[in-house]
Amino acid sequence: MSPEFIQTQTDLTRIVSKHLKLETGRRILKANCPFHADSSDSFMVSPAKNIFKCFGCGKEGGPIEFVMAIESKSYDEAVKSLALEFGV
Ligand SMILES: [Zn+2]
Repeated sequence: MSPEFIQTQTDLTRIVSKHLKLETGRRILKANCPFHADSSDSFMVSPAKNIFKCFGCGKEGGPIEFVMAIESKSYDEAVKSLALEFGV
């Protein structure tokens, strides 16, 4: 499995939902950012693009970057963890 495959084919919304309560929007899902002190739903997930971005602290990326940041994993560890979880 390639990191590119992981990045596009694992479901970021599902991964983020394990850690955060996402508020349903129309095309963008929002939550309080887990990476800085936030109380204004600065953290956005785009299910269509499978990416996240925080407009407060600027953190952004895909499934690999989210797992690296939220679980304090290295790039390789995040790729392995996602591959195991999604069976890809
Ligand atoms: Zn943030």
